[in-house]
Amino acid sequence: MAPRSKTSATPSSPTAGRGSGKRAVVIGAGVGGAAIAARLAHQGFQVSVYEKNTFSGGRCSLIEKDGFRFDQGPSMYLMPKIFEETFADLGEKLSDHLELKRCDPNYRVHFHDGDKMHLSSDLAEMRNELERLEPGSYDKFLAFLKESHAHYGFSIQSVLRRNFEKFTDMITWDNVSSLHKLHMQSSFYGRAAAYFQSDKLRKAFTFQSMYMGMSPFDAPGTYTLLPYTEFAEGIWYPKGGFHRVVDRLEYLAKQRGAEFHYGKPVAKINTTTGPVANAGSVPHATGVTLEDGTVVSADLVVVNADLVWTYNNLLPPSSYARRLTNKQQTSSSFTFYWGLKRKVPELDAHNLFLAEKYRDSFDSIFLKNTLPDECSFYIHAPSRMDPAAAPPGKEAIMVLVPTGCLPDDPSAMSAAEWANMQARAKKDVLRVLQARTGVDFAPLIETEIINTPQTWQAKFNLHQGSILGLAHSVPQVLWFRPSTRHADFKNVFFVGASTHPGTGVPVVLYGARLVAQQIARAVQGGKAGLYASQAGSNMVAILALLAVIVAVVTGVVCAQGGCATLSALLGA
Ligand SMILES: Cc1cc2nc3c(=O)[nH]c(=O)nc-3n(C[C@H](O)[C@H](O)[C@H](O)COP(=O)(O)OP(=O)(O)OC[C@H]3O[C@@H](n4cnc5c(N)ncnc54)[C@H](O)[C@@H]3O)c2cc1C
Repeated sequence: MAPRSKTSATPSSPTAGRGSGKRAVVIGAGVGGAAIAARLAHQGFQVSVYEKNTFSGGRCSLIEKDGFRFDQGPSMYLMPKIFEETFADLGEKLSDHLELKRCDPNYRVHFHDGDKMHLSSDLAEMRNELERLEPGSYDKFLAFLKESHAHYGFSIQSVLRRNFEKFTDMITWDNVSSLHKLHMQSSFYGRAAAYFQSDKLRKAFTFQSMYMGMSPFDAPGTYTLLPYTEFAEGIWYPKGGFHRVVDRLEYLAKQRGAEFHYGKPVAKINTTTGPVANAGSVPHATGVTLEDGTVVSADLVVVNADLVWTYNNLLPPSSYARRLTNKQQTSSSFTFYWGLKRKVPELDAHNLFLAEKYRDSFDSIFLKNTLPDECSFYIHAPSRMDPAAAPPGKEAIMVLVPTGCLPDDPSAMSAAEWANMQARAKKDVLRVLQARTGVDFAPLIETEIINTPQTWQAKFNLHQGSILGLAHSVPQVLWFRPSTRHADFKNVFFVGASTHPGTGVPVVLYGARLVAQQIARAVQGGKAGLYASQAGSNMVAILALLAVIVAVVTGVVCAQGGCATLSALLGA
């Protein structure tokens, strides 16, 4: 694992002026790019953002066609406090920028037998629903919430608000003493099964692992924090679409002097091993070259483009870049954006249609890397929350059908096979919709746009078309997740779904905060702080850790009169 540099565990509030006019180039205007641009501009950097597409937001953008408006990706605004903190860090009040509406109920879950369940933040309503499906389950639900509340509290405080640049950053008293409460060794599904007997309730409290792009049978039990945040903090929707978040961040970045350049793909991060004042001759980035040949120089580069793609396409070839391609990715999807000829009251704002063979449906995606025989899918109807999303009397819906990521070898499946798979996904969705809502959607579709795994890959440079980036399995989180700072080119930083802390809009927003703090600390250290290599720091940290462990063990054993045995074991 490549060495990383010093970190601070406590987030500091951003201070204007720290950047002292240094030039920062940001690659990509996704939510991560817009958020870091706003923060760096607020800190006094000269910020230039280069985005390959002609629109902002990346996955968090809008698609508009024939009077219909669709959220390209995110539709569930969760963890509202993180959004508030982001605006507060910029000296702004979120309510001055976003008009939020709370979804009530949170969503409707449709089971294979036609039964439906409303999941709500209203406890009285939940009690009725739970007791109907499994008598006595309301008390268990409260106990499940208590456990998942603990997961949530720990994750916010000790994971999302911290960076892990050194191995030893993970080893705090809080982390060690809380480990057993986090259920990292159990699966998400296993935790729900510990509380509920009913197959339907187990499903209703576990499909949320897909927000992290993981199967509930593989995702660690800690991620039950997701159903917790839905119940405790609610699901919200910004008027005008989710993209409004990015739009306002861009506005605040521009107010602070940042420039945004659209339709300007970056072709290369320019690097050198030339001399740097006060830091000797160290590898560093000098800026970027755009696809049109323009060279843009910078004191530092922040990459918001997909991390695995960037290491393999914008940075010099390395063994680390190749290793990244073998890491576990989340899923891809066939996503259908349908403008419907009439309102469909049979749908809520958020709807889940779960497969009868629930486990098989996840295994097909994550183990076989393909489309399940029987799909579980999600439908978002933005026009149910915000009528402006569709022409009067009509409905805009987005149908997200998760599928496996693209294979490494593009020729592994022919174009005809992909077309068949897409047709099968659509047919399955229409069949299930008719069976479970009684509505034949096929003749209602007036406008259709489809994002396939290939679309996701090409439109946003997402490695293997993975819509949520690198998976959040235990070996790919905390210090084990690709660092927010390049190991060799110390003035190259990463923000977004595949670096720490991970995927999802609020999580990426916290990532931007961590990177802004990291850059501020680096700049405070002068040229040496921004460029100097900290090679060996992890090795030193690991040796120090080993020394501590040996010292502790020695102390314990000696206290028990076992020094002679220990000395013999150590060969002393
Ligand atoms: C279908 C779907 C549903 C989702 N649902 C939710 C949800 O309900 N709630 C939630 O919180 N999250 C959700 N997510 C996840 C969320 O959208 C992502 O985690 C988040 O938007 C990632 O933001 P990012 O800034 O890391 O990356 P991106 O959005 O990928 O931004 C990176 C930007 O870099 C640009 N770029 C790439 N290469 C270059 C280059 N060479 N030069 C210049 N620019 C480049 C891209 O065009 C893009 O604009 C969903 C995602 C998808 C796809």
